[in-house]
Amino acid sequence: MSTKTWLSQAAIFDQNDPLKSCRDLFHIPLHQGEEVAYFTGNSLGLQPKTARGYVEKVMKDWERMGVEGHFYSDEPWWEYHERLAAPLAGIVGAKTSEVSVMNTLTVNLHFLMVSFYRPQGKRFKILCEEKAFPSDQYMLQSQLRFHGYDPKEALIEVPKRAGEDFWREADILEAIETHGETLALVLMGGLNYYNGQVLPMASITAKAKEIGAFVGWDLAHAAGNIPLDLHKWGVDFASWCSYKYLNSGPGNAAAIYVHEQYHNRTDLPRFEGWWGTDKGLRFKMQDSFVPMKNADAWQLSNASILSMAPFLASLEIFQSIGMNALWKKQQKLVVFLEQVIQEIGNQSSMEIRILTPKQRGSQLSVYFGSQGREIFNALMSKGIVTDWREPNVMRFAPVPLYNSFGDIARLATGLEEAIKETSN
Ligand SMILES: *Cc1c(COP(=O)(O)O)cnc(C)c1O
Repeated sequence: MSTKTWLSQAAIFDQNDPLKSCRDLFHIPLHQGEEVAYFTGNSLGLQPKTARGYVEKVMKDWERMGVEGHFYSDEPWWEYHERLAAPLAGIVGAKTSEVSVMNTLTVNLHFLMVSFYRPQGKRFKILCEEKAFPSDQYMLQSQLRFHGYDPKEALIEVPKRAGEDFWREADILEAIETHGETLALVLMGGLNYYNGQVLPMASITAKAKEIGAFVGWDLAHAAGNIPLDLHKWGVDFASWCSYKYLNSGPGNAAAIYVHEQYHNRTDLPRFEGWWGTDKGLRFKMQDSFVPMKNADAWQLSNASILSMAPFLASLEIFQSIGMNALWKKQQKLVVFLEQVIQEIGNQSSMEIRILTPKQRGSQLSVYFGSQGREIFNALMSKGIVTDWREPNVMRFAPVPLYNSFGDIARLATGLEEAIKETSN
């Protein structure tokens, strides 16, 4: 296909896209006065136009009511977080009672490990994927050391095969089987941030349960991106940030999922605070902790309302459109992106290879044999925003809520030009 064909193809796709008007719900950043082609919704989602109003509402209530806003605002702060649970449960395939919103992702995983990493005797190891997101690596290593173990011995990292860019399901299941009763916890990223691969969460969860380990998922890149069915899969716990595909704003509140089977268990330890205590008793200032009968029991502090307000605005958009419609468009966007990159690769003397396997969400990670950094910079100067990872990998994540097929045609044209420019 030529550049012209990409553009006309994209125009037809955009015309027939039932979600094309969703883009208008978001602020698209500008580059030299023109909207950028934004491919980094996997890193920081764009701002819903409604978000500011939600934040201003909280500011207004605070301005007018002071402390009274906790109870007497028409959207009272003391239970504000509860409004986010139902839409989030729909996004991750959980019961509303299994979801809560609090803190941030790494913090939440640490807190959840208090309950779900319970090393004992010879069962003390943690299994994850090799080269997990750095924060996850630091978290797992520090948890192991905190419990007196040497990460070199106690952290099992499942590798990819030599020369391959993705994990094989069989290798992960076999590693779980092999370490068997020495495994206390399987904790992995559901969608790998680097190669864009979706791990087979259902089968890994089932295998981990079979050998008697707890299993948790970091869903940073999965929530709001791919179909999830946490409750049905029997996942014990999970957490995800909200600023990537969930478009809540930089560093905003994260969410947790805890399977309902653990909600009223008194034998499971947990770090506790007053926001996890039974709602009716929360302000009675009693000495003893009476847990909420849902995932809110894991909350500690009073909710960070200003971080939840834009998150709520965004979740209402997800709810009004529905994940099914988003997934449908996502598949089409990614297939178009894949075609375009393959064609550019075929026409170029430089090696251009897609690392992402077919088990994927919005993101394609692409390896550039040389000049990757220059190509990345050239794209940026054309208002095409992508993401750079050493060594020589660019990640492109067209998001069905606000990316158009035209954005992809623009990326294709930009890439062609950039490759020409940098090879001169
Ligand atoms: C983005 C991301 C994080 C970020 O953690 P924060 O605590 O929100 O800073 C952690 N893990 C994974 C896998 C991520 O993709």
